[in-house]
Amino acid sequence: MGFKTRQIHAGVTPDPLTGSILTPIYQTTTYVQDSVDEYLAKGYSYSRSGNPTVRALELKMTDLEDATDSICFGTGIAAVQGVMLAFLNAGDHAIISDVAYGGTYRLCTKILSRFGVEFTFVDGSNLEAVAAALKDNTTLFLTETPANPTMKCTDIAGVSKIAQKAGAVHAVDNTFLTPYFQRPLELGADISIYSTTKYMDGHNATIGGAAVCATQEHADAVRFIQGSTGSIMSPQVAWLTSQGCKTMSLRLDAQSANAMAIAEYLEGHDKVEQVSYPGLKSFPQYELASSQATGYGAMLWFEVKGGLTAGKKLMDNIDVFSLAENLGSVESLITHPVTMTHAAVEEAERIRVGIIDGLVRVSVGLEDVEDLIEALDKALAQV
Ligand SMILES: *Cc1c(COP(=O)(O)O)cnc(C)c1O
Repeated sequence: MGFKTRQIHAGVTPDPLTGSILTPIYQTTTYVQDSVDEYLAKGYSYSRSGNPTVRALELKMTDLEDATDSICFGTGIAAVQGVMLAFLNAGDHAIISDVAYGGTYRLCTKILSRFGVEFTFVDGSNLEAVAAALKDNTTLFLTETPANPTMKCTDIAGVSKIAQKAGAVHAVDNTFLTPYFQRPLELGADISIYSTTKYMDGHNATIGGAAVCATQEHADAVRFIQGSTGSIMSPQVAWLTSQGCKTMSLRLDAQSANAMAIAEYLEGHDKVEQVSYPGLKSFPQYELASSQATGYGAMLWFEVKGGLTAGKKLMDNIDVFSLAENLGSVESLITHPVTMTHAAVEEAERIRVGIIDGLVRVSVGLEDVEDLIEALDKALAQV
């Protein structure tokens, strides 16, 4: 079956009791057992270790990526944490994309480093640098591509080969492109990580995450961490996310087309210093972005001439776009990563990896593109 059929139907069967076409929200703590000897006969015992509404979303995510099993989490960062705790012990070393979600960087440097885990943040666009960062105790590679917020891309197949040779796990944060546009497991990665908050929900309604695993062994290791640390997704969030998933490909197609038009408009504007969008020929990794994904997504960034001051003026005055964190929803959002999403990254590290002060991040939504461009045009005229 094709992706559009699967995003609607996978994981869902009519409710056996009523025929309800949507999986009900199983709002329950516990599940009554038929007898001591038949404990777990129906598959559920207590909602920290499993809930049918959450399971329906997990089965959908597994199917969409032709994976083996998935684990949904309360947040995207909890999914990142679940994968890290599953494959890192004290004394182990992990290689992480040097540009990654700010919360991932903070989790490594401020929390897991306290427990004796060592991290190297490496330029994922440079496979030689990735290979050179390898140590005897490297057990996990976590790459994010395209990366939040610089859009830097990592060669998923290339890093997967290095990881496989080293006997390490390669997890890819695939939040920006979703399995509709990019399929890390088919490129050799072991785990895809999602903030379902973004394109899977798609409506600015929920916070959630998922780890989609190629092997049952990895899935069991991640689920064990989840059950032990308690970072579960709620049934309401799973239900809303399951509804959002049904239109994911349509939203991504339309939002990406809007993003392409906006990127081209910005590139031709004389008040714009630079634009970064993987679908532009001027994007430094245009070839890689085109070869490992079937779409370019709906995230881009640009810098206004005049840097931070001009950028702030634009973000404070623009119509239609909301000044807010989050991305991937139908509403277009504009964000200043240095003060908002990536404030936890130290200035020196931000400069090293290219998160410049004037970087304006745009999550392109589903509005009429003419309205979005007009709003940008008006805001740029004011700076
Ligand atoms: C938002 C985001 C996260 C964190 O997800 P939450 O749902 O906010 O916890 C992780 N990775 C990427 C790439 C993100 O954009």
